[in-house]
Amino acid sequence: MDPRWTALLDAARAAHEATPELRAFCPFPTELREQPGDPRPDPLSVTLQEAPGATTSPWQGFRDAASAAGPIARWRDTYRHTAIGEELHRHFGCFELLGQDAPFGAKDMRGFLVYQRPGYHYPPHHHPAEELYLVIAGEAEFHLDGHAPRRLGPGESVFHPSGVPHALTTHESPVLTWVLWRGEMETRPVFSPAFSDQQASPR
Ligand code: FE
Repeated sequence: MDPRWTALLDAARAAHEATPELRAFCPFPTELREQPGDPRPDPLSVTLQEAPGATTSPWQGFRDAASAAGPIARWRDTYRHTAIGEELHRHFGCFELLGQDAPFGAKDMRGFLVYQRPGYHYPPHHHPAEELYLVIAGEAEFHLDGHAPRRLGPGESVFHPSGVPHALTTHESPVLTWVLWRGEMETRPVFSPAFSDQQASPR
């Protein structure tokens, strides 16, 4: 196994142990099959190395391990086929560390690194899986249908319930996040029509 994967796994495990929200979401998997697979390169791996986003000190090792694994990662192309896919994937990228087909095979959860460049709005989307986002570096505004947007930085997390539309907006900073899935994990995300009217009224 490439030591960059092992280092990233160790960093993810350390973050899990240190973060009550992650521990409450799911246990960190213990039985992990090593299945490195072929990389699918993405120019964002270079962007991630050049501009990974600022951290607070506990998150620096995780950020640097994620950035180091970028060039050997299998970057996903979830939205490439959609009308905004090319534009989206210029700004937004994601690769898996833990999961059925990930470098470390796990059955009951999935774990992804998600990176988004500054000044981009990843539109509302939804999926059956329950999801927990933890910000590793930089910051972003997290939108969840029915709730006021929240601006989160390193070490802060947000939970997205099954099927509820959510979106992500970066401003002057990029954001690097660690994302966990549980529940029904086979169905890919799809764009949501729009947020309900609740989103429009600030509270
Ligand atoms: Fe999501």
